[in-house]
Amino acid sequence: MRKMNRRALSVLLLASFIVLGLVGYVGRYLADGERWATYFSRLNSLSEGIVTDRYGVLLAAFTANDNHFNDDRSTRIANYHVTGDFWDRTGSGILTSFSGELHGYNPVTGMTQSRHISMKLNVDAEINKKAYAALADRKGAVGVVNYRTGELLCMVSSPAVDPTENEPDAAEGAYINRLLSASFTPGSIFKLVTAASAIECVKSIWQKSFFCEGEAEVAGVKITCPYEHYTQDFAGALAVSCNIAFSQIAISVGQTEMINHVRRWGFLDSHDLDGIRTAPGNYPLEFVGDPETGWSGIGQSTDLVCPFSMLRFVSAIANDGIICEPKLIDDGQPPVKSVLVEPETAKTMQRLMRNNVTTTYGDIRFPGLTVCGKTGTAEVGDGTSHAWFTGFLLDEEHPYAFVVFVENGGGGLSVATPIANTVLQALVRRGTDMEY
Ligand SMILES: [Zn+2]
Repeated sequence: MRKMNRRALSVLLLASFIVLGLVGYVGRYLADGERWATYFSRLNSLSEGIVTDRYGVLLAAFTANDNHFNDDRSTRIANYHVTGDFWDRTGSGILTSFSGELHGYNPVTGMTQSRHISMKLNVDAEINKKAYAALADRKGAVGVVNYRTGELLCMVSSPAVDPTENEPDAAEGAYINRLLSASFTPGSIFKLVTAASAIECVKSIWQKSFFCEGEAEVAGVKITCPYEHYTQDFAGALAVSCNIAFSQIAISVGQTEMINHVRRWGFLDSHDLDGIRTAPGNYPLEFVGDPETGWSGIGQSTDLVCPFSMLRFVSAIANDGIICEPKLIDDGQPPVKSVLVEPETAKTMQRLMRNNVTTTYGDIRFPGLTVCGKTGTAEVGDGTSHAWFTGFLLDEEHPYAFVVFVENGGGGLSVATPIANTVLQALVRRGTDMEY
């Protein structure tokens, strides 16, 4: 009897190992099956695939026994984080994320059809080239989306490599897409989040006055400001980006409501850009007390923001609160829309962000454009700072929202705004006879 039991037990054990193994296999098959099949399809099928930009410019193509990219080396490099490469080194380019689709692979039958597949993207390869050149070998990212349609017009991350080179001389971090796959200290662009939260939570915000002498004790802790801003109202404090005012504003909102807004506006989430997952952000979620809440409200503390999440937020503000989810691929389908920001809050933020440019940065930095925005200079602890600029054009013909980020790049106003201007000027002049 005891022997029988032992035998039954071992059979049972064996059976469970088989079931476990099978479950594991099916799980991995569903997750990676497309990738496994790629190897076979590349070798055995007669499939051909082509990836083009919005104007039909070839970005990547393959046949059963050959791979191609754009003939121009700088176009290949500028668009590297869009295409990825055939070695799967970025982990997030089109060639990696859609390898199965591009090869006509069917995960249910496990078969690869021999067919010609073409994929048209919303990005503009030429604009990506402009943006990459503007980053000038610095680490950083540029993203531009049409906030009325969700078309992602520009997606660039620097440094990048030439996808045709098997062993490129890659700079540090060349395989990270800094627009989608990483989060950084936001610094003062985060004051947009604090300002929008205050509009919703602090009824007296428009009557408040703030005083800055370059440093102040806020909730018992010294907070410094690079300038003495003296007496300011809410709009003025955002325009000059006063740390003392905004740490007080964040404390007025309170940590709980700050968390609610940060979460609601998607800063903590990983988003889905046509199947490519983006990096989640960070905000202090455990109780930290007033001084740290103050720091978090000016984009320091443990705040981290993925540039893509900031692009979503400003594009919803520009579109009266409605987010048209950014789309990398032009599949002919309308964008997925939802209310991200309360429409009244969004309209108020539009006025505040326009006021930032007219009263502080100067329209002269953006000739002929009507820019609404916020700069950021994020201190990162090693004595350097990240340069940021994010916002949108108030222009029905060119409804573009943007984010520019330069890692350890210096000041937002001096470093990031000229890059935004270069890219936006090029986009607005696209299709006209004007030099761009
Ligand atoms: Zn100040």
